[in-house]
Amino acid sequence: MLDNLTEKFDSIFKKLRGHGRLTEENIKEALREVRLVLLEADVNFKVVKDFVEAVRERAVGQDVLKSLTPAQQVIKVVRDELGRLMGEGEDNRLDFGGRPPVAVMLCGLQGAGKTTSCGKLALKLRRDKRNPLLVPADVYRPAAIDQLKTVGRQLDIPVYDSQPDQDPVAICEAARRFAELNGYDTLILDTAGRLHIDATLMGELVRIKESLAPKEILLVADAMTGQDAVNVAASFDEQLSLTGVILTKLDGDARGGAALSIRAVTGKPIKLVGLGEKMDALEVFHPDRMAQRILG
Ligand code: GDP
Repeated sequence: MLDNLTEKFDSIFKKLRGHGRLTEENIKEALREVRLVLLEADVNFKVVKDFVEAVRERAVGQDVLKSLTPAQQVIKVVRDELGRLMGEGEDNRLDFGGRPPVAVMLCGLQGAGKTTSCGKLALKLRRDKRNPLLVPADVYRPAAIDQLKTVGRQLDIPVYDSQPDQDPVAICEAARRFAELNGYDTLILDTAGRLHIDATLMGELVRIKESLAPKEILLVADAMTGQDAVNVAASFDEQLSLTGVILTKLDGDARGGAALSIRAVTGKPIKLVGLGEKMDALEVFHPDRMAQRILG
């Protein structure tokens, strides 16, 4: 995970440590390299610019240069700023407040890992003592409903019995009534994905949002697609006002461009990350731990 970044930061920091005393020029040189590394990692251009500026402001301060371990201080500044970039200190917990059943809506492009994430989330919620109902609301992709039903069977978590000829909004509304009657406290809505964002897809998602008033509207985005994932997040956010992002396939992402840009570009936090194909490979996202991990 994000191994390229770790390797490159490591080599920049080795050089810094090698200097002993640091001059402002040493720091500027390191920051030039940090900038390149982040751009190579496919981090959004403006995000890189702001990040480097923030580090520069703190790192060329006299306190850092005069300290006994200036290189360590600079590294700490980079770590802090990386954490901040990814939302450290902000509340990124899922919100289940309000009268049950609470709806959690997952949306995203086809192949991003939406259906898998619905299953993973259901398992996680059950472990947290909630009682989730999976709701297949993708009536376009053949087998999408069956795929979620299979996931549900595998996890022994109930799946609402949608049919492909139903309207997705009607499915979600009927599932909510079913949940009310049967004591399920959380609806996990697996909405339709498309290969590309289009007006029909968005219109449908907006209708589901208006009807179900989900507490969480989470974009499922594939980390391996870098800036594309960031652009997708920005478009979905514009139409739906996302509450957060589930960033999938982080296990296979060596570069980290999406992980480092999504929050800064959209203002919406990464709440959960997918770290593998298995159903238990979903974790709460901790920006501080991720920053620590990137810096090795
Ligand atoms: P959907 O079209 O968005 O519903 O995507 P799927 O849930 O069908 O997932 C597409 C593929 O991505 C499947 O092969 C999943 O196993 C895989 N996948 C989903 N999440 C992850 C993840 O976090 N890591 C890895 N390595 N694969 C994932």
